[in-house]
Amino acid sequence: MRFDTAIVGATLLTGDAAVPVVRDGVLGFAGNRIAFAGPRAHLPDAIPASRVIEAAGRLVTPGFVNVHTHAVLSLMRGVALDMGFAPAYTRGVPRGHDITEDEAVALARLGALEALTFGSTVMVDSYVHAHVTLPAMAALGLRVWSCTRFHDVDFTRVHEGVWRHDPAIGDACIAATLDLMKAQEGANNGRTHVTLAPHAPDTCSDALLTKVAGLARETGATIWTHLSQSRLENQVISERSGCTPTQLLERVGLLTDKLIAAHCIYLTDDDIARLAASGMTVAHVPKGNATGGAMAPTPKLKQAGARIALATDNLTQDMTEAMRWSLAVARLQIGSVSDEWQPRDAFAMATQAGAAALGRGHELGKLRPGYLADCVVFDFRHPHLTPLIDPLGTLVHDACGRDVEHVFVDGRQVVVDGEPMFADASNIRAEAQRAAEALWARAGAKA
Ligand SMILES: [Zn+2]
Repeated sequence: MRFDTAIVGATLLTGDAAVPVVRDGVLGFAGNRIAFAGPRAHLPDAIPASRVIEAAGRLVTPGFVNVHTHAVLSLMRGVALDMGFAPAYTRGVPRGHDITEDEAVALARLGALEALTFGSTVMVDSYVHAHVTLPAMAALGLRVWSCTRFHDVDFTRVHEGVWRHDPAIGDACIAATLDLMKAQEGANNGRTHVTLAPHAPDTCSDALLTKVAGLARETGATIWTHLSQSRLENQVISERSGCTPTQLLERVGLLTDKLIAAHCIYLTDDDIARLAASGMTVAHVPKGNATGGAMAPTPKLKQAGARIALATDNLTQDMTEAMRWSLAVARLQIGSVSDEWQPRDAFAMATQAGAAALGRGHELGKLRPGYLADCVVFDFRHPHLTPLIDPLGTLVHDACGRDVEHVFVDGRQVVVDGEPMFADASNIRAEAQRAAEALWARAGAKA
């Protein structure tokens, strides 16, 4: 056995139930796959590797799979979250259709930079200008599933409370998505993929949702949406379609195991049963929901057997923080600490559950031989991460994205000492700052 790279001496959190924690471990890569994940004692004294990274005092995890993001909406940082439940429905913030391609790229690079340096190796993203933001994000080295924002509502009026559907808008989204699939599906050495991303039940007509379901069956693509994000959405669907948003997705054929639906806050018991039975995955955004004053009924969803994966949406792209919030939000609803909501559950939601939702549970989300060589090296040599008695508990309750030292994707190092390998972080910040200042100035002038 010979490795291209070996990370030596760290504690490994493998995500593998048989051996979840390996102390003084070695993680060895050959090409883009994991060749060894086990104790150093099982290898010769001289580790057979072209490159050895000494990593005592570090914790290594699988790369995090962030199943619901809008990288461009890093634009909203520090402002929009105090104005409404989501930017698309909020007055006075820059609108998606006002963002130029160059501005979208500048902001998407910022969102992807933050996510990657905080340990997400997969982002499942959607917003405007995906044909340029997807390759720009992938250029940083991470895996990206993306799609242009898909709707037939006239988004220029939604924040005024007007839902006017125009089939021509929907047809343009379908055409753009099919073009994006041709250009990006499987590109960047298999790191980029295209989803079908109907924005939400209320911003897509029943007819458009039915078309998307047909496309999903034809292409086998992952379906990505928002679902019961607000009481307003439920009300619009009740008036328009005479059912709940969950019932609508089922009626049009979108409630399948290919669906990743974000938020899932305002659900009836009947909705919960339907979601659980369908095999879909809830993209749980615990911090974003709570910041908007809401909690998804995750204890009920879990008890019903629903699959739940974690996401950051357009807030801080820190999956470690999301793990911590997922426990707090569930325990607030249960009223106590619970066996069902432990660090192992949050860790699985942030890794394996996301991989499974993308149909990649067999090769992503664990440190296991044969899996793709995606991992995160946390520097645990800090007061807030000491003493290290239970590494998983300490990771979930006390670590944060800023503790990430190195990130690998496909066996290739993409973050070194907290800095991106394939981009200049200060350039990305400067360009995003310029784009955001211009967009907020234009939004202010309009208001
Ligand atoms: Zn979202």
